[in-house]
Amino acid sequence: MKNIAQPKMVYSHPTMCLYCHLVVEMTHAHDADPVKGSWECPRCKHLYRFSHWKIRKQKTRKTAT
Ligand SMILES: [Zn+2]
Repeated sequence: MKNIAQPKMVYSHPTMCLYCHLVVEMTHAHDADPVKGSWECPRCKHLYRFSHWKIRKQKTRKTAT
């Protein structure tokens, strides 16, 4: 009986990769370490450390009043 645990991937909003200059959806493993983990460009496989580059996640934007 096979039970392959497929890691869930988290996708960023479309972001321009600084290496291949393409607008891509960066990915990282669902359980990636918030410190040691990194976003990965699906095109050139470049890694962006979370601590180095914080891609905006789905945040509720504060509206200035
Ligand atoms: Zn890239």
